[in-house]
Amino acid sequence: MNLSELGWNDFFQGQLDAVGEELVPARVARQDTTGYQLITEGGQLLGTLTGKLRYAATSRADLPAVGDWVLVKPLANEPDKAVMQVLLERRSSFSRKEAGSKTDEQILAANVDTIFIVCGLDDNFNLHRIERYLLLGWDSGATPVVVLSKSDLCQDLDKKLEAVASIAMGVDIHPISALTGDGVENLRTYLGKGMTVTLLGSSGVGKSTIINSLLGYERFETNEVRSADDKGRHTTTFREMAIVPAGGLIIDTPGMRELQVWADETSLAQSFDDVESLSERCRYRDCAHGNEPGCAVKGAIEDGTLDRDRLKSYLKFQRELKHLAAQQQVQARLDRKNRVKRFSRMIRRRPSKRDLS
Ligand code: GDP
Ligand code: ZN
Repeated sequence: MNLSELGWNDFFQGQLDAVGEELVPARVARQDTTGYQLITEGGQLLGTLTGKLRYAATSRADLPAVGDWVLVKPLANEPDKAVMQVLLERRSSFSRKEAGSKTDEQILAANVDTIFIVCGLDDNFNLHRIERYLLLGWDSGATPVVVLSKSDLCQDLDKKLEAVASIAMGVDIHPISALTGDGVENLRTYLGKGMTVTLLGSSGVGKSTIINSLLGYERFETNEVRSADDKGRHTTTFREMAIVPAGGLIIDTPGMRELQVWADETSLAQSFDDVESLSERCRYRDCAHGNEPGCAVKGAIEDGTLDRDRLKSYLKFQRELKHLAAQQQVQARLDRKNRVKRFSRMIRRRPSKRDLS
């Protein structure tokens, strides 16, 4: 693997030259509790942060994230490990502000060239949502492309293409079917040598299926979640950048998936205006629209003014948001614990009175 196949270019080379030290460029492929997985010209390395990088960081955004380029010093006695010395400036980034904190910005993916905004051509088709994703996309510094999935389930393609074109001016639009393979190869245009792609789109629109078909193998583990009213949902359990054998790189992290839910949440009121306004007329304010007496939503389904599937997707969506909130709470607790650990390590490192005497 040479550096340009990994996305290295003049922008990063200029920064390396300016450092003037014997450091090795590496791209962050994965970040988890064990550390950073890095890819270099010579292969994979496990990266650790230098204290200097860590303490100079004024926010989490100053720490390396998936997709970042770093300069490392390999460890002489441990050839598969390296210390990350310098974080190179990013060309683009997706970030999230920590819940409850205005200043702590977290980078979810860095140095992305193209974002596939994936939207289903089935019942999930939603122009508002595409608009919101486009906004997120342009905001990141990468170029958005609209991918309309599940074309095999669509009867009025021309009409939908026209509608999308009217809100996504100047943006490439690709109808595809990962099921039949129609149009999928067109997406490789964006996966030229060293080009990085990430995907945005609601759960269930076919992102994992697209990634697997571009990679040519089932890279990402999927989790079937089944319950009485949920047909099954794939959840991805990784945080990484994958090298596409035919060229290019794909980043898909849980963080990106959360960003998707966030984009959905802000459009929830718009998308489910019908359900939301009905629920204002339920007898109980915390009505779950299950078996509660006096439920206006159930009433509307019974008299045929509201589609049963509509309530289903509304409830599914609410569950996802709850799940997300719980995850964020766990993450916040972990972050707190790590801060305490780091602090106590720092205190231990201070020389004691006995050492000095
Ligand atoms: P993700 O949550 O966005 O990653 O979506 P998945 O890739 O897990 O796909 C969700 C469901 O849609 C799965 O049951 C897929 O088999 C199905 N699916 C994905 N792509 C297509 C497609 O092009 N056509 C049809 N009919 N179904 C698809
Ligand atoms: Zn109700």
